[in-house]
Amino acid sequence: MCSQNVELGFVEKIDSWRLSSHFFPSKVGGKPAWLALKGLPVSERTSCPLCGEPCVFLLQIYCPISGDGRCFHRAFFVFCCKNAACHTKANSDKVPFLVFRNQLPRSNEFYSSEPPDEGQMPDGSEPRLETFGTCVCEVCHCLATKKCSKCKVTSYCSRSHQVINWKQGHRETCGTIGGTGSHKPNAPTMVLFPEFEVVMETEEQEIKPVLTKPEDKLLNEYSQQMANDEGKKTAALTFDEKELEGMAYGEEDKQFRKFKEKTEMEPEQVLRYQRGGQPLWVSSEGQPKESDIPKCHCGANRQFEFQILPQLLVYMNVDSIQDSIDWGTLLIYTCSNSCDEGLAYKSEFLWRQNYSNTSLPKAT
Ligand SMILES: [Zn+2]
Ligand SMILES: [Zn+2]
Ligand SMILES: [Zn+2]
Ligand SMILES: [Zn+2]
Repeated sequence: MCSQNVELGFVEKIDSWRLSSHFFPSKVGGKPAWLALKGLPVSERTSCPLCGEPCVFLLQIYCPISGDGRCFHRAFFVFCCKNAACHTKANSDKVPFLVFRNQLPRSNEFYSSEPPDEGQMPDGSEPRLETFGTCVCEVCHCLATKKCSKCKVTSYCSRSHQVINWKQGHRETCGTIGGTGSHKPNAPTMVLFPEFEVVMETEEQEIKPVLTKPEDKLLNEYSQQMANDEGKKTAALTFDEKELEGMAYGEEDKQFRKFKEKTEMEPEQVLRYQRGGQPLWVSSEGQPKESDIPKCHCGANRQFEFQILPQLLVYMNVDSIQDSIDWGTLLIYTCSNSCDEGLAYKSEFLWRQNYSNTSLPKAT
């Protein structure tokens, strides 16, 4: 079940049209490139668990499972609330993030069973949401259930996105011919995050040095002897005392150091993917217990699948609302059975791990 290697995700600038649904992209920011073109999650499911406002698309990754016909196409969609207060208020029960899983067999009602022509610019003949009767919000591209009451054309997921769009220019274009949407239909809205492609690469395995210099060998023998002597003296120390000592001195540092060492080898990485693998913790604190990870609604256990690194924040233009949207790492746990029944877009589980206070970089 477990992929052998960790796949690393890197962001790259690319023309927006290359991130259309039928290219099965992995991407951050912009609008979600929905996989199944109908059955999108309803707005109650895409609103923030803390404030109830619509969440904004953060990223999606395309990760089929080879050998599983139900998962010939498979993608995760992560959404995030942009309300700064929610990120401060968040606790282990409620985080301002949402994750959806969607998967399709090779033969499906939306896409050709043959791979797309990567160089072919979309010309309108490619599968589109509208073809399947799906109406999406002008602002966030999530399922829309409301229309502007004046023009009855432009659609919204929520009142708050209608208000935003009105201010962005729908005020001027409402009711004019071809005047659906905002003043500049292609202008990136303030609501969405900047858009990038996510490119995956296999992480290089660490090569442990096998040769030791003669003086190292001597030193090793010496320190081993010391340790043995020390061992005799401290044998009386109880396990509990030793454990406490370990926690007080450098346990957190150890995890954080490991995190730094691992990520510094490829400092641009924004995502780590290893289905059924082990996450890279940013701290020894704030790790979920087994009981913290809810089972899937199908009854199967959830397992770790991928994590989003703090490096992604650099690309998300969150500077303007500094100290608001922040994370150490976001861990995504998914149904180990990749179940198929029920809703097209299934909710999965996200755990936010923050830096512990001891591993925070010192303020300068
Ligand atoms: Zn919120
Ligand atoms: Zn919306
Ligand atoms: Zn209107
Ligand atoms: Zn399941």
